Amino acid sequence: MNLMKAFYTSILILTAFSISAQDLKVTYIANEGVLLEGGGSKAIIDALFDDFYKDYLSPSEATVKQMMESSSPFDQVNLILTTHFHRDHFEANLTGNFLKNHRETRLLSSEQVKGELESKYVDYSQITSQIKAHKRGVQTLEDNINGLKVYSFFINHAGGERTAHIENMGFIIEISGKRVLHLGDADMNPERFKEVDLTKYNIDVALVPYWYMSSEEGMDIINNHIKAKHLIGIHYPKAPSASALEAIKENYPKATVFQKTLTEVQY
Ligand SMILES: [Zn+2]
Repeated sequence: MNLMKAFYTSILILTAFSISAQDLKVTYIANEGVLLEGGGSKAIIDALFDDFYKDYLSPSEATVKQMMESSSPFDQVNLILTTHFHRDHFEANLTGNFLKNHRETRLLSSEQVKGELESKYVDYSQITSQIKAHKRGVQTLEDNINGLKVYSFFINHAGGERTAHIENMGFIIEISGKRVLHLGDADMNPERFKEVDLTKYNIDVALVPYWYMSSEEGMDIINNHIKAKHLIGIHYPKAPSASALEAIKENYPKATVFQKTLTEVQY
């Protein structure tokens, strides 16, 4: 009897270990938007926006409804990270309402994103305590929010002078024992990547704009300044060029390129 009990207990323990074995699930929402889940925590990056820009996927009506109603998998979200305020990454009212409906959730972003919420979201006063905003600068910052460690840094938005006013952030988030990098729309500037030196973080999964994977500058950054174990291409357009995908397949045969909403990858 006792032996049987011990046997079942050990099976239970083994099962628990194999499930909790630090699995990380990345679900594609749209454009550069993802949901990260693992180790009992959840984070959303760049996924709260609408279809203002037609060239890129936006979250479906059903997904937005699930997010706003806190239904699974969008219940108990620890953290929202927003890389920058462009409408294919962020929309003030959706983000504001998400925070209002998820009292447990915190938002980490730039002062620019915070300013957008303050000027555009009517119930801003109800969500201020949930927001942490960083001032644009050159240092990498470290936060511990709702049990998740996040390193954040500013890298200029792609596009040179025209977009120089955009405060674009990159994040490394530790979730389920893994480190996940998201660059927003970071400019492929090797000097800035050298300064930030992402290689020292031993990144497990790097989410990079897909054009990094098919351009010389981008590949230099991926291969020498990021060195992640796994690669995912994001910001893929609705009407893509076949040659870009072919180039990516050749350059990074093991990489994933997110093209279809709600695609899931597990690590
Ligand atoms: Zn942008």
